[in-house]
Amino acid sequence: MKTTLADRLAILQANDHFRDWQTVDDERVCVLCDRKFTGHEVLISMAREELELHCPTPQCKSGVHQWVHPGNSLLSEKGYDDWWRALGSSNGADGSDSSDDAVPPGQLRRV
Ligand SMILES: [Zn+2]
Repeated sequence: MKTTLADRLAILQANDHFRDWQTVDDERVCVLCDRKFTGHEVLISMAREELELHCPTPQCKSGVHQWVHPGNSLLSEKGYDDWWRALGSSNGADGSDSSDDAVPPGQLRRV
């Protein structure tokens, strides 16, 4: 289907009710196939009376509601890094070995 740039932007805006398209250069990440693409690459097809937008990846069945803004997705690697760092810091692993001194606090040890 042939579209001009203006048409394409209008189509994106009209059919994506979930996120705004400022320009056809806007990027999206498909949460199904993890592909990043721009408005230029979105496949536009005619289904009955309505236009449908499709992920540019062949066989990918995602729709506009499954396209998220780059860097703002659940797939963010950085989020995981921070999470793991937070877990590690709560271990209190400072190298001291107290296994031979396992006396509960408050209980005197008799020799
Ligand atoms: Zn996809």
